[in-house]
Amino acid sequence: MTESTRAELLAEPGEGGRERLAAFFAARGEPAYRARQVEEWVWERGARSFDEMTNLPAGLREALEAVFSLTPIEPDYTARSRDGTVKHLWRLDDGERVESVLIPTRDRLTLCLSSQAGCALACRFCATGDFGFRRQLRAAEIVAQYRDSLRVAREEMGRPASSPISNVVYMGMGEPLANLDGVIGSLASLHGGFGLGARRITVSTVGLIPGILELARRPEPFELAVSLHAPSHELRLRLMPIEKRYPLPELFDALRTYQSYKNRRISFEYTLIRGVNDDPALAEPLAKLARGLICFVNLIPFNPIPSRPEWGPSSTEGIARFSEALAARGVGNAVRRPRGRDIDAACGQLRLARES
Ligand code: SAH
Repeated sequence: MTESTRAELLAEPGEGGRERLAAFFAARGEPAYRARQVEEWVWERGARSFDEMTNLPAGLREALEAVFSLTPIEPDYTARSRDGTVKHLWRLDDGERVESVLIPTRDRLTLCLSSQAGCALACRFCATGDFGFRRQLRAAEIVAQYRDSLRVAREEMGRPASSPISNVVYMGMGEPLANLDGVIGSLASLHGGFGLGARRITVSTVGLIPGILELARRPEPFELAVSLHAPSHELRLRLMPIEKRYPLPELFDALRTYQSYKNRRISFEYTLIRGVNDDPALAEPLAKLARGLICFVNLIPFNPIPSRPEWGPSSTEGIARFSEALAARGVGNAVRRPRGRDIDAACGQLRLARES
């Protein structure tokens, strides 16, 4: 049976899922606690198959299997960096492949997950953009990356069993706010199903205004990150075609609206490409844009990609100069160390490397 005809339990946290399971068991004359048992397997133990649910009779497990799906995804390839970063390339039911990355720091373990197979936005510095768009991920496929990473975090990375993954960022392949159904559904599962705190989940976007406003209206305090990369229309247009559709002034109006709803700090991502967008003089227009917003800028050295051989990361001194120029204008910022360089951990790079 195909996924489209079975209900994916990973996409149904809370009441909806419970009611559907309750109806399933009631129709078979089973006691009500069976639904609770299944839920425990899904959300607390991260079961990948109904066979694992050993406190349910085998016949019931088969019956569940016919009606429901646990959205199995298969690790096609796993790469482990010397710095502890672990990257997975997952194969989905139709053969599409997406990446997720586990990034350990001293007191955190962050999972970076994918929201689409490929991406339509064609940012010039991004390896995923080179694939073009393949398809949306269903909510359950986004959540399955988390479920299967939990196991790796617990069993291979020695993380506490109670909360192996401390943070989730939607910074893998794809543009989350171009897949609102899938992403909103997955947020509901991570938060309401697996119990991950909304403040520990960051949605990163190129700046799709309708999606930003949709997030603003949600009650949960999910974090928002915006890929900025340039403070002027001309320069941003060179790097990110989306600037044509949602230019900076409109984007920042939307961010002000977002902040009037949420009153939460917004992060900006700024990838520093040598000689392209790292002139410290750009700190001035950037500070002007940010005026009136509570925000923070993450500076990321550009990770070279094969399709842009002419571009390289800014030098250490160049990055420091840019960072200081921002700080001098009152813009809080930090330089993010690249992680997992030896395993092609940057967005889209592993799939690219495995296909070329
Ligand atoms: N589409 C979303 C999330 C995916 S990319 C977004 O654009 O925000 C996550 C971050 O990695 C983005 O800020 C993106 O601009 C950045 N990025 C992509 N390719 C990169 C590269 N080669 N080097 C450094 N950062 C890159």
